[in-house]
Parts: sequence; C-alpha cells; structure tokens
Amino acid sequence: MSQNYDCIIIGAGPAGLAAGLYTARDRFKTLILEKFMPGGQINNTDRIENYPGIERIDGPGLIQSMQKQVESFGAEIRTGCEVDRLEKLKDGHIAVTCGKDTFNARAVILTPGSDYRKLGIPGEDQFRGSGVSYCGTCDAPFFRGKHVVAVGGGNTAVEETLHLTKFAEKVTMIHRRDEFRASKVLVEELLEKTKEPNSNLAIKYNTIATAIEGEGKVQSVKLKNVKDNKEEDYPCDGVFVFVGMVPNTGFLKGFVELTDKDFIKCDCAYLRTNVPGVFVAGDCRIGAAMQLATAAGDGVVAAMMLKQYFRDPNWWNESVSDELPPGGR
Ligand code: NAP
Repeated sequence: MSQNYDCIIIGAGPAGLAAGLYTARDRFKTLILEKFMPGGQINNTDRIENYPGIERIDGPGLIQSMQKQVESFGAEIRTGCEVDRLEKLKDGHIAVTCGKDTFNARAVILTPGSDYRKLGIPGEDQFRGSGVSYCGTCDAPFFRGKHVVAVGGGNTAVEETLHLTKFAEKVTMIHRRDEFRASKVLVEELLEKTKEPNSNLAIKYNTIATAIEGEGKVQSVKLKNVKDNKEEDYPCDGVFVFVGMVPNTGFLKGFVELTDKDFIKCDCAYLRTNVPGVFVAGDCRIGAAMQLATAAGDGVVAAMMLKQYFRDPNWWNESVSDELPPGGR
C-alpha cells in the first residue's frame, strides 16, 4: 500500500477525527495515526452534556460515531502507531515515522491531545495501579465499599468525584483552595451531594496531599492544610488525582516550536505552526480552551486552512490579517 498521503493527522481524539472528516470529505487522501485507540481522554468520560446538539452521551459512544463517520468518507485510521519522528523534506513534504514505518504527506495536522498531570509526591508512582488512579470512570468499580480521596477542583475533579460516590463507601475530596475552578452547575451538584442525609461525600478545602503511603497498596495519604500548616495521616484505600492535563508533545521537541509549558505554538486564527505545512488543533496548542467542542472546531479550522495551503503554498507566509480569512465570505 502506498505510504504517500495528502494529509497525515497525528492523534485520533475529537480534534483529529474532526479534521479527518473534513480532509477526507474534500477527497484528500488522509491517514490518521493513533498510538492507542481513537478517542483519547474523551473515552474516560461517561457523561457529556455540553456538546452542542447532543443532549447527553458517553465519551466512547460519541467517539465511535465520529470514527464511523470519518471512515465512511475514506480516511484511514491506524491504531497502535506511536509517532517518534517528523522531518521536513527538501521537496516540502513531511515524513512521519512510527517505528519501522515512514509515511509522507503534503501536510500534517498535529492533534496529540494531552495526558494526566501528576501531583509529583512520594508514593504516587509507586502505588499507581495499586490504589493511585487518574481515571474515576475507569477505576471507580474497583473501590466499591472503600474509602477514597479525590484531589483537584476543576471540571474533571468534580465530575469524577461525583462518579466515585456511586461506588465508594466514602469519598473525601481535597482542594488546595477554598473556591472551585469547575463550572457553577457542576459545583452546585457537588455541594448538593454533600448535603444529602448520610452523604458519603466530604470536602476538605485549602488542603494538599504531600505523600501517599502504605504497604503493597495505598493505606493512607498525608494531608496538609495550607492555611494553618497542620498535617494529618488520613486513612484511605485509594487516591484519585484529577489535577489537570499536560500536552502530549514530547515527540515534537526540536521539530515545532513549543511554549515553556510544552504547548505547540501557532497563530491562533489559522492554526499554523512555525513549520510550513504543519498545522495544530485541540488541547495541545497554545491558547486551547480544552473543551470537546473547541477541539472539534479546531480540527475543522485546521482542515480548512490546509485546503488553503494546498491552493496556494505561499499563503503560509502571510501574516494573520484583519480581513476575511482565506476562502471567507
Ligand atoms: P483544570 O481545569 O486545569 O483543573 C485542575 C485542577 O487541579 C484545579 O482545580 C487546580 O487547582 C488543581 N491542581 C492543579 N495542580 C495541582 C496540584 N499540584 N495539587 C493540587 N491541585 C492541583 O483541569 P481539568 O479539570 O482536568 O480540566 C481540563 C480542561 O478540560 C478544562 O478546560 C476543563 O474545563 C475541561 N473539562 C470540561 C468538562 C466539561 O465541561 N464537562 C469536563 C472535564 C474537563 P486551582 O484551581 O487552585 O488551580
């Protein structure tokens, strides 16, 4: 089979699948490379209710439908393909290498998404898989009847903590401040849950975890109140860490420009990186809103701009204008 494509998309999350839908529908020969399975982070959520037009759906359900749609237009998806290298060739094409395979494309859209941020405390790595988890949706059933601690104050932390309360006997949520970053509607639901008679949910504010301890499995977590510096050993069977995401851009170092926090630099209007023919979309780019709908929207923008680049490669060097975008009405 030919290894030459019009467009290679790296990452089959919502941004990559949306980009692939547009490029394949435009009849560009499209390859989507994915290191695990399509979906990325969105596979870990069992409740999506803020994707416009879909009242409620689970992550895997939405991804299955996106995958079917993109494949129906002829895009090829290869899973288990971890990209290790990209190279800009003399003829302007881009070579993408995954292990023994090298694919060439006229343009690339980078959509590698992001991964779990760690707390970076003693015991976290040691007990990963033996009580430390980053995914409530995946691991909550293993903690039926147990006591777990959930760390974080964003949307993921609140959604996942609520999910944990359906399984664990007791859930203690700790947050380093006394105000949540999460959306108001979720925070209201969380606080309501704490007020239920015999609620199994408690919240400790202004509290951080400083170490996770146990023998063979998690047995306690060291907590510290950041206001009065009081510390306590808090018995528990599991620690769920929901403290945000870091971009999956390690393999891009030296190829495209990254920020000091490893997000991919681009012009946010047309999603061009510093390498001609290489676009970016989704959570891994500078300024990303980190939402499912915006990731999908980004994928569409990158695919539209790729079409403009194919029409006129010199457009790449034009600065973002205040006027209508290329092809704009
Ligand atoms: P996030 O919004 O970045 O929140 C991370 C949370 O972890 C914050 O509360 C932060 O505290 C806390 N935190 C960070 N580092 C910490 C540390 N070392 N120790 C203790 N706490 C720490 O991350 P997220 O919740 O994973 O969400 C990522 C993005 O996806 C966001 O844009 C979010 O809106 C979006 N998302 C949306 C939905 C939805 O709309 N349904 C669902 C999930 C995620 P501070 O607040 O003090 O900084």
